[in-house]
Amino acid sequence: MDNDAFEVIVVGAGPAGLTAAIALAQSGFRTALCGPVAVDNNRTTALLGGSIRALETLEVWQRCHALAAPLASIRIVDDRESLVRAPEVLFHAEEIGLAAFGQNLENRLLVDALLERLGELPIVHMPSPVVEVTSSESSVAVRLATGEPPSASLLIAADGRNSICRQAAGISVEDWDYPQSALTCNLAHARPHGSVSTEFHTRTGPFTLVPMQGESSSLVWVLDRERAAAFSELKPEDFALAVERQAHSFLGKMSLTGTRQLFPLSGLVAQQFAKNRVALVAEAAHVIPPIGAQGFNLGLRDVATITELLVAARREHAALGGPELLARYDAMRRPDIWTRVRGIDLLNRSLLTDFLPTQALRGLGLALLQRIGPLRRAAMREGVMPRASEPLLIRGERLA
Ligand SMILES: Cc1cc2nc3c(=O)[nH]c(=O)nc-3n(C[C@H](O)[C@H](O)[C@H](O)COP(=O)(O)OP(=O)(O)OC[C@H]3O[C@@H](n4cnc5c(N)ncnc54)[C@H](O)[C@@H]3O)c2cc1C
Repeated sequence: MDNDAFEVIVVGAGPAGLTAAIALAQSGFRTALCGPVAVDNNRTTALLGGSIRALETLEVWQRCHALAAPLASIRIVDDRESLVRAPEVLFHAEEIGLAAFGQNLENRLLVDALLERLGELPIVHMPSPVVEVTSSESSVAVRLATGEPPSASLLIAADGRNSICRQAAGISVEDWDYPQSALTCNLAHARPHGSVSTEFHTRTGPFTLVPMQGESSSLVWVLDRERAAAFSELKPEDFALAVERQAHSFLGKMSLTGTRQLFPLSGLVAQQFAKNRVALVAEAAHVIPPIGAQGFNLGLRDVATITELLVAARREHAALGGPELLARYDAMRRPDIWTRVRGIDLLNRSLLTDFLPTQALRGLGLALLQRIGPLRRAAMREGVMPRASEPLLIRGERLA
């Protein structure tokens, strides 16, 4: 395939970019993927129902599902030790007719499955970083650090939070920092987790243990930056003991399996999600703190939406990267993205404040969720399948 023959270029070969290239190529678009494949780490991603349906439809999930752990229930425990203490809330997926809310999978296993599927499709992968992007009225071209520069009708920017594609398209961002870091690692433990994901709401942020296969869990511990750095340097056995204490020993004795990683918490939202033949997906469009397993799931809804719009444009013989399509993408993604960004921001800030009325409101919200079945079920459905965004791929429909 010569380099002028592409309809779409995807920049960034992280999980979102790999998924975008697969979705586009499976839908019959001539697709180029630019960028090196992301380096492995030992983090996991909790994939919600819609994301799993999309990955199944893209013939990816079948390759890794046996290695994932189901999330049958979610438990929220108020551990702020404040004057107003909220009740413990337990959400069971079976209450809304599901076996699980989602599945937790190691990122490296997801990337392996994506690469295997990628290899079956006619995608041209150029593993070199993109150094420049130029848009004209009719096309968009990228310059690579090495190799032939491809051009296409549309560029999908999956090049993460510091996206050079976003900058080249002239899209500005709103960004902010939080006074916290997320400390992540995987742990083995003595007692079974029973497929329950447990989130303790502490004074510095959520402390969440997400089931992995067997008697092990992945931890996302949001702490003030100094304590997070100090905990990351403790001896492994001292650290495991600190985690066990913070978890009130509900999983018994713990031991660290693998390394710890630190992620300073920040937020970012692009002012526009598409412009000048560039459509932003995943962290190029939005960065949210790792609370409530939202980031990648939100990114997959971006990928599903832009693919669906491109398929519809092709059916109507309309231009693939023109301003109408980009304006439609922007309008379709705005409610979903802003709902998640605001929701996570509010939850995080409500944990950090000692302001009593805020604590009372948070407690009341959790109490209502605990006591009122229809409200709890509506919240669970919204978590698994947000009403603001139901693209076909997320509903499990193949796009062609
Ligand atoms: C601690 C933590 C826990 C999380 N847990 C969850 C979870 O449970 N569920 C969930 O849904 N989300 C979760 N997330 C969010 C999720 O990890 C991110 O949303 C997701 O990784 C973003 O994917 P991405 O592909 O946009 O970005 P990245 O993974 O950053 O990928 C961007 C890619 O672009 C490449 N790139 C950058 N610049 C260029 C260039 N110039 N040329 C070519 N390539 C380039 C990079 O090399 C990289 O491969 C978590 C995040 C964190 C930090």
